[in-house]
Amino acid sequence: MTVRIHTVPLGPDNSYIVQGEGTILIDGGAPKNSGRFVAACEKLSLKPETVALIVLTHGHWDHIGSAAEIKEITGAQIAMHRDEKDCLEKSRILTPPGVTLWGKLFVRIMALFLPRIHVPKSTVDVVLDDEERSLADYGIPGSVLATPGHSKGSVSVLLNTGEAFVGDLAMSGFPLRVRPGLPILAENMEEVRKSWKRLLSKGAKRVYPAHGKPFSVDAIINALSPHP
Ligand SMILES: [Zn+2]
Ligand SMILES: [Zn+2]
Repeated sequence: MTVRIHTVPLGPDNSYIVQGEGTILIDGGAPKNSGRFVAACEKLSLKPETVALIVLTHGHWDHIGSAAEIKEITGAQIAMHRDEKDCLEKSRILTPPGVTLWGKLFVRIMALFLPRIHVPKSTVDVVLDDEERSLADYGIPGSVLATPGHSKGSVSVLLNTGEAFVGDLAMSGFPLRVRPGLPILAENMEEVRKSWKRLLSKGAKRVYPAHGKPFSVDAIINALSPHP
């Protein structure tokens, strides 16, 4: 089965429409971006109601902000890890700590804007835990698996052909990183590394980050290897 991947920028980050026999959306963008989602569907000649599932990679506001509106438009179910579903269900604002010098500064700058951010509430229909969950029922040859580290409730979608949609488990674009690599913001870098080892052992080949352009997993392998 050919799977088509469409990048849909919804604010400062990318969401992805993945089409196999069925269609899913990965991540729900920043608040007030559902119009961009509808425009992307029109451009692709895709009826929004064919999207059956919205996988939210984690609870940060820039990934879940338009999920409630997109759910209304599509009628899709929302899947999210149990540890962060209250970010959507209770509009909890969760922010990651910086792990590099720029990351720490970035968090301070971001803090100035946070009071103005509001995430519309919605309910999570498919509560994910640490068990790998097949997407076969949604017509997608792949699965969702827990990949904590950037945040405790982070998940990734891994297609059987090696495409990995990892949310913020990797970053590749300005203003976060110049080159592709590990996140500059994370709750636990040790967990980030473990999650990457898990994804690599399961066949991840090409990385589709939420921030920045897709890249080969080689950049991650390089980042994980101990430098002399
Ligand atoms: Zn994040
Ligand atoms: Zn993000």
